[in-house]
Amino acid sequence: MKIDGRCHCGEITFEAEVDPDALHICHCTDCQTLSGSAFRANIPAPAEHFVLLSGTPKIYVKTAESGNKRLHAFCGTCGAPIYSSAVENPQSYGLRAGTIRQRAHFSPRRQIWRRSALPWVDALTGVPATEQG
Ligand SMILES: [Zn+2]
Ligand SMILES: [Zn+2]
Repeated sequence: MKIDGRCHCGEITFEAEVDPDALHICHCTDCQTLSGSAFRANIPAPAEHFVLLSGTPKIYVKTAESGNKRLHAFCGTCGAPIYSSAVENPQSYGLRAGTIRQRAHFSPRRQIWRRSALPWVDALTGVPATEQG
């Protein structure tokens, strides 16, 4: 499906094509820190259909425990994470679901790095909730 997205301040906008059933949830500690949240929701977009329409993301290259390097792009003004990719010649972009306008249409296919999942993530349905703020 064709999707489009933007960072919070709107400086960076993009469009891409994704499989809406390809969303994955990453519970790794790097994703927790880099997203500032409990886990990260990513959806892969093939490079040939990913187009940056405006803005130039700031780049952070993360070195994993394994020594693998991964490029992380985010908005230098509002800080919203946009994607991660291979450092050189990326074949696909891991888009951050929260920046995509059509994100409610995605379904998670799998969770990875469950060993570092926060202990309460599966108990959220039982937590008192309000529809707004
Ligand atoms: Zn921004
Ligand atoms: Zn991760």
